[in-house]
Amino acid sequence: MDRRNFFKIVSTVSAGVATSACGNKTDHLIPLLVPDHEIVPGEEQWHAAVCGECSAGCGTLVRVMEGERVIERNREKFRERIACVKKIEGNPLDPVSGGRLCALGHAALQSLYNPDRLRGPLKRSGDRGKAAFQAVSWDEAIGTVVEKLSKARLTDPSRIVCLTGPQMSSRGLTMQSFLQALGAPLALTCSMDSFAIERKAAELVFGWKGLPVYDLARARHVLGIGADFLGGWASPVYYARQFGQFRQGRPDVRGTLVQAESRMSLTAASADEWLPLRPGSEPQFILAIARLLLDGKLARHAEDLPASVAESIQAVDLAKLIAACGIEEKRMRRVARALGESEAPLVIAGASVVHTNSLDSLIAAHYLNLMLGNIGRPGGILAPSPEPLNRAGDGKVAEVLKRSRVLLLDGQNPAYTLPLASGVTQALAAMDLIVSFGSFIDDSSAYADIILPDHHTLESEVAAIPAVSARPTVNVATSFVRPLYDTHALEQSLTEIARKMNVEFVPHRAREVVEKSLAPGQTWDDVVRQGGLWSDAEHEVTPPKARGEKLALRDADFSGAPQQFPLQLQPYSSLQYHDGRGANLPWMQELPDPASSAMWDLPVELDPRTAANLNVVNGDRVKVESPHGSLEAWVYVHPAALPGVVSMAIGQGHTHYGRYASSRGANPLAIVAPLCEESTGVLASGATRVRITRVDGAPGELIQFSPQDREQGPWGRK
Ligand code: SF4
Repeated sequence: MDRRNFFKIVSTVSAGVATSACGNKTDHLIPLLVPDHEIVPGEEQWHAAVCGECSAGCGTLVRVMEGERVIERNREKFRERIACVKKIEGNPLDPVSGGRLCALGHAALQSLYNPDRLRGPLKRSGDRGKAAFQAVSWDEAIGTVVEKLSKARLTDPSRIVCLTGPQMSSRGLTMQSFLQALGAPLALTCSMDSFAIERKAAELVFGWKGLPVYDLARARHVLGIGADFLGGWASPVYYARQFGQFRQGRPDVRGTLVQAESRMSLTAASADEWLPLRPGSEPQFILAIARLLLDGKLARHAEDLPASVAESIQAVDLAKLIAACGIEEKRMRRVARALGESEAPLVIAGASVVHTNSLDSLIAAHYLNLMLGNIGRPGGILAPSPEPLNRAGDGKVAEVLKRSRVLLLDGQNPAYTLPLASGVTQALAAMDLIVSFGSFIDDSSAYADIILPDHHTLESEVAAIPAVSARPTVNVATSFVRPLYDTHALEQSLTEIARKMNVEFVPHRAREVVEKSLAPGQTWDDVVRQGGLWSDAEHEVTPPKARGEKLALRDADFSGAPQQFPLQLQPYSSLQYHDGRGANLPWMQELPDPASSAMWDLPVELDPRTAANLNVVNGDRVKVESPHGSLEAWVYVHPAALPGVVSMAIGQGHTHYGRYASSRGANPLAIVAPLCEESTGVLASGATRVRITRVDGAPGELIQFSPQDREQGPWGRK
């Protein structure tokens, strides 16, 4: 969607229009999407909204048409007119999406019309974790929550825990106010979207709060380290658009990208050069580059480094560092020179795969940018926008769950995103009360006592702050289709619970988040019509002074003895399913995996040498064992996989997540060690060693979009 078409569309749409829809829970025949023959010919309407599929918070435009569905009342079938959402596009005015969306954003339509969406409140009717529920009335569901929550509040409110998403939003603010009213601790997140280590590093070095913005579009030479920014890190649509500009947006400049990562990610595959780092050696690599820049007088702003940091860089043993990261010295020297000599150099560092020493590497990368002189400058790192709202905290969630008696689950799935060895399922099973506000039964809500299903994001009002934006941004959605089912907005459920508990609580509205930032003459209706409020103010341009945070150089910890577990496991967030949340959408299941072209499953990626040693080829079955568990998966022999490093995308392996995702494939996070990056509590997903054995005679097969890989390629079945 481009800006011209947007303005054409917007002129036909009035703000906040709600087309009629029905919310009768007796419906039996809601198709996955309303098919074209059930659409009534007539005017389309486009409404601005916000994508809720990840914390990037892209602004969207949603195409709504009038349609029909068949409903059943008193055993009689009726046709009924409803407002049908037919298509989701990016909002061209939004500085994050700029009119584009990722595949998961497009597929949000299938979560709205998903046949497994919950249609009303549920109460547990079987053992915890078995997903056995029965339908109950809202009165009964709320009554049960009020009774148990009141007891917990009187006994010890500090043992009430809420897990919510990392995004700053009016919804998050409402949840925090509710917890405050109960006297409970502030909510935590266990999402892979929190990027807590990236935020912590920026705060320690520059005092910034939030995710720094990398001005990739105006950089000339980029060294990416551990951040798969085209594959799902931080804000995939924003950085994909920036990358387009970086490569083709300037008539006489084609930006150069060198990517250092221990897996051939989407970003590495799009780079001019890939440096295959040993897993966990990112701090060593960055310090070696820093030392080479200093030695070669290529650090134009070396004087900006705090003295203690400069001394630490000078004191490193360069040969040892280069040996640790596994890249030849000649190549390292060439990479450092190209970076130092560029007119607009930029280092983009992140932790797409987290190691116990990831904070060290991100701090070191900020110093690298500081000595290159690009902080706060075009083509460099820009400070994050001031955070106008509180966000959920980070921490060792499994430990907190073990200490808690009541869990409020808001869109988080700890039973899937935390390893089994963390004791998460035992902690869930031992809770006095679990209340889920989710729209689906997933691995964690299968343990819930009560489910109070929220409206879908396309049926909800929200003001959301995107994870990354080059200027202060609030994206806004209001409900423009009535809820399809007997669901209640989170705000409504919490208000009802608080009222019955005699607790003073007022939910936060999107309007109140936006109104204090309105410019003279601007109205709430304008914001709703265009889909957000975007300040023209550029980010801070004065380079901040580094705070002098010390450089550390710790080796990454790995669980498992190398003699018994000779391979290193790297689970990574998949393009299709993100951290697993997209697995219940058939469009995403059908989307071929970028590396293996696998569909409806995710294979384990092995290098050709390891595959030959194990006597396996593409499509064979293997058992992957760690000191903490095992899984079975199909093999994809990846010609660019590092010898001794086994990668597997996250997304499949749900115990419960509807008909498309349940009991399909395996979850690599389930078998990783419960090791964390200590200062943030973020799971060190790449800190586990494994061994692999061939499994013969397994039923089923690896479905690949390009079967010649399996049939004819050098590692295919002959
Ligand atoms: S990047 Fe995230 S917010 Fe943006 S479209 Fe994709 S899933 Fe939605």
